[in-house]
Amino acid sequence: MELKLHEFDLPLKYKFGISRETRTVQKTVIAEVIQDGISGYGEAVANHKYYGFTVEKMFADLNGLQEDLKTRNLLEITPDALWSIYHPKLKANPFAQCALDMALWDLYGKLKGKKTWELWGLDASKRPVTDYTIGIDDIEVMKKKLLEFKDWPVFKIKLGTDHDMEIMQELRKVTEATLRIDANCAWTAEQTIEFSKTLKELDVEFIEQPLPAEDWEGMKKVYEKSVLPVIADESCVHEEDVDRCHGNFHGVNIKVVKCGGLTPALRMIRRARELEMKVMVGCMTESTVGISGIAQLMPLLDYVDADGPALLAKDIATGVTIDKGVVSYSDVPGNGVVLSGELN
Ligand SMILES: [Mg+2]
Repeated sequence: MELKLHEFDLPLKYKFGISRETRTVQKTVIAEVIQDGISGYGEAVANHKYYGFTVEKMFADLNGLQEDLKTRNLLEITPDALWSIYHPKLKANPFAQCALDMALWDLYGKLKGKKTWELWGLDASKRPVTDYTIGIDDIEVMKKKLLEFKDWPVFKIKLGTDHDMEIMQELRKVTEATLRIDANCAWTAEQTIEFSKTLKELDVEFIEQPLPAEDWEGMKKVYEKSVLPVIADESCVHEEDVDRCHGNFHGVNIKVVKCGGLTPALRMIRRARELEMKVMVGCMTESTVGISGIAQLMPLLDYVDADGPALLAKDIATGVTIDKGVVSYSDVPGNGVVLSGELN
């Protein structure tokens, strides 16, 4: 196989605010693996500020595998076997490993003429709708965004201001859709327990990552006293974190870039189910390349946050399509990705 790496600056439709930053552009890396003239694509967004993975670091780590990849034939070895072989080299850079692993699954499916979810033996007839994420902004702007996407059945509202309950009360006035919230580590245990009562009255579905990632003592209290379910995100990064979250969260939000790709995400989902936890898979503002990979996991999930392409002003590929929260697979096998090669 041959490996080519591409870099894009994905322009966001609106500036996107969460508790710790606001962005207008998302830098991203696309890995392309090629065999027999067929290309498979995977994606990992750069996240310098919180997780520390830059485009340059991903390029450097993936380029270190060029020689070995040339000796591999994807009709003789599976993507999950290659994941294990490359893991020692990419352990410190799960974002890079995700881009490669996702590209290998896309190519593997294309070579076999089957969709990736089919290769995993899944039944794709049942899958959750994706939420649409509303970033932190002035309340009027948040309301406007919600009304612009008013046909979507589920919204994820980013919180972490000094007036979070006011935001939710105002948003609830303009929609009857399902609302879930994500505080991105901004609250204390006491605030979360108190806020959960107000949020329950506002018919909120669950609270994602209220406390800082390592505040396990606080999470224990929240787990016991919150009147709404609590889902881990920043506290659930690597495979072993699923066990740590058990008894501290009601569920986990798995991000493929953080754990190192679709291969470990499948294992994490399986483990969370064994522990009888709720399972969500989330995105990091990926383009259609990354979302098409993530979408292969949907038949296994309770919740999905796969709205990346809907947040972009321009996309770089075709693959899954999203219509009012319903994610549909393309007719192309693998993850179904066709890269257009430029922003369009
Ligand atoms: Mg989150």
